[in-house]
Amino acid sequence: MGPQTVPATSNGYGLRHHDRPTATPMSGCNLGPVTRYLITGGAGFIGSHLAEALLVQGDEVSVLDSLSTGRFSNLAGVHDSPRFSFTQGSVLDELAVDQAVRGCDVVVHLAAAVGVKLIVEQPLYSLTTNIKGAITVLEAAHRYRRKVMVASSSEIYGKNNSGPLNEQSDRVLGSPTVARWAYSTSKAVDEILAYAYYHERDLPTIVVRLFNTVGPRQSPAYGMVIPRLVRQAVASEPLTVYGDGSQTRCFCHVADVVDGLIRLLHEPRAEGDVFNIGGTEEISIQQLAELIIVTTGSSSSIVHLPYEVAYEVGFEDMARRVPDVTKVGKLTGWRSERNLADILDDVIAEVLRDSGSQSWTDDGSVASSTSLSRTVPDDA
Ligand code: UDP
Repeated sequence: MGPQTVPATSNGYGLRHHDRPTATPMSGCNLGPVTRYLITGGAGFIGSHLAEALLVQGDEVSVLDSLSTGRFSNLAGVHDSPRFSFTQGSVLDELAVDQAVRGCDVVVHLAAAVGVKLIVEQPLYSLTTNIKGAITVLEAAHRYRRKVMVASSSEIYGKNNSGPLNEQSDRVLGSPTVARWAYSTSKAVDEILAYAYYHERDLPTIVVRLFNTVGPRQSPAYGMVIPRLVRQAVASEPLTVYGDGSQTRCFCHVADVVDGLIRLLHEPRAEGDVFNIGGTEEISIQQLAELIIVTTGSSSSIVHLPYEVAYEVGFEDMARRVPDVTKVGKLTGWRSERNLADILDDVIAEVLRDSGSQSWTDDGSVASSTSLSRTVPDDA
């Protein structure tokens, strides 16, 4: 079946209307006029937040998404906008990609297999989606001379546990027979393709390496730790910490990540280059679990699961992953504005809303059937 396009109908969300002319679809455009963005994977967690932000700044957004891991409901805030359109289709479908790229000025390629659980369970699907998908998108962008931002991942650093990791830090990988290192390689191939198109074909490409990004709409289904642990805490279930919990991560709010992406899209000097985007507040997963229990007021306990039970025999985790974000900061002024407490507030508020278990008291605290006693912010 071919791609299905859902035309946008009306704007019910108070989005800013512009009568700017459309941008010329090439490198270095200052993005002053209305820019027509294509977001592959735009029904996903990060893509849907990016779509909202671009519409708010007056641009046009089309989304190409297979809805395999993304959800159309993620686009509830934008799908009525007259400047938004949605096409259900895969980045492996050359015709769908060709049509979508032809109709835009700038491509943000986010469609990818994501989540450690998914890449361990479906390595072939993950590799094909990432490598062939990137080739298909870059070929189409080259055909129509469209600027492309390619989303890469901190996974490309592998088990380089030194920190903070800058864009020139080494990749330290185990055997390619381990799904995680194969996935890491697939994202590195995406990067290499983007650089090659820039250097050999003069295609304006930007690579962003996203570190642990979290926030509302992130699915717990593919292994991500914060949506999983928060749901467990709210449901008064044990929090599953993998390994001994001493491994550390830095989490960045999706709204900050989207701000970084947009700053780089607006910056012609970002073309042909790679940028880390991530939070810098380092925390161990054990401490994170404890913080989530305290913040939710949950009665949950913490259980430790060996990696071979959580994932597979031979699974290797990164002991530490801390980004150096100096480069993007120097070029665009970006830094993450929201801390881990802000992130947890937003995720907990969403989980409580979805669980439908909370009731609100006059002072803004939550009384719920899950015996949570946490105070939520006014805007939750
Ligand atoms: N993790 C955990 N419990 C879970 C899910 C994940 O302890 O239910 C751990 C996981 O092993 C890793 C960290 O939390 O050490 C972050 O996992 P995530 O999948 O969110 O991101 P990544 O491993 O890609 O950094």
